[in-house]
Amino acid sequence: MTDPILDDIAFLTELRRDLHAHPELGFEEERTSDIVAKLLEEAGITIHRGLGGTGVVGTLQIGNGTRTIGLRADMDALAMPEMADRPYKSKFAGKMHACGHDGHTTLLLGAARALAKSRNFSGTVHFIFQPAEEGRGGAKRMVEEGLFNLFPCDAVYGLHNMPGLDPDEIAVVEGPQLASSDSWRVTFRGTGTHGAKPHLGKDPVTAAATFIASLQTIIGRVIDPLQPAVVSACSLQAGDPKALNVIPDIVEIGGTARAYTPHVRDQLEQEIGRLAQGTAMMYGIIAEYDFIRRIPPVVNNADATARALRAAQDVFGSKVRTSFPPSTAGDDFAFFAGEAPGCYVWLGNGPAVDGALHHNTAYDFNDDAIEHGVRFWTRLVEQELSGDHDATA
Ligand SMILES: [Zn+2]
Ligand SMILES: [Zn+2]
Repeated sequence: MTDPILDDIAFLTELRRDLHAHPELGFEEERTSDIVAKLLEEAGITIHRGLGGTGVVGTLQIGNGTRTIGLRADMDALAMPEMADRPYKSKFAGKMHACGHDGHTTLLLGAARALAKSRNFSGTVHFIFQPAEEGRGGAKRMVEEGLFNLFPCDAVYGLHNMPGLDPDEIAVVEGPQLASSDSWRVTFRGTGTHGAKPHLGKDPVTAAATFIASLQTIIGRVIDPLQPAVVSACSLQAGDPKALNVIPDIVEIGGTARAYTPHVRDQLEQEIGRLAQGTAMMYGIIAEYDFIRRIPPVVNNADATARALRAAQDVFGSKVRTSFPPSTAGDDFAFFAGEAPGCYVWLGNGPAVDGALHHNTAYDFNDDAIEHGVRFWTRLVEQELSGDHDATA
């Protein structure tokens, strides 16, 4: 008996390397989405284009099952140079698939092709190819433009490659997987003056130093010690290195905040602002504060996780991890999981080659994981949409 997935691996490996060589940034995935749309259509799958600009949704409905699920792959690359030499190295300067989204796109296409052939389920699956995961808001835009009105889902699933796990290994874990990813800005407005006469002005630089030095007391003294949270100051603009006798009027500080629960997220928003205002008051200056909510945390739903776990155990046997530490990174899959019960899984990418992890200039998706990833997606659909199993089993 032939195995349609095994038969497709050579093609999918070629495809993955072609996508790697032609990385496109968020909302610019023209070539990638053309390839996705063409391959879905060739497989006989109905496509919808244009959600989120370059987004593609493929819909495959088989039999009379009423359950509908969505599977998501992100398509975008990062604005960074590829430094490792490989035959399929990025052809575009300053752009690189350093997060393995070339692999994610390939896996979901592989599953779509296999399922369109085997047609071994009863129900509807939406293959969601998302633009702009890397901080540009692709998922939010797809949702805002009506993704779930056009394609309602009873559950949604996401997958990310993970170095450190074997390519035939997967982690499927209930609860928090990725943190919220929010930005904040503080501007301290004082009164600039001669560096030799600080008493004649209001120094925002010393205030900024106090604020930054105190920032970690939010984590250490306010947030529940059993709740993970991160606050980091990542940008600091003040004065001019060529004017070392001038105290400036303004200091601008910016950073990130991460949490796994809505409560801690609210606390971070409030406390960073309180610290900024309190510091400004202490120094007799003004603070302006802005907290920008970007991405909620990804928290795996119990029922969707149980369903993903069943498929994972079928495909990966004993190499399924049900406990795995969450990441302090964020993923805008959170917006999809806000619309339907969601589960986000980690597929092994093998050892970190030369220490290269996600977003490193030498990172690469591991082609050995293609078969396992395609089998996982395919089995998940076949089990999820088996037509006869009790939805709450
Ligand atoms: Zn990334
Ligand atoms: Zn990624």
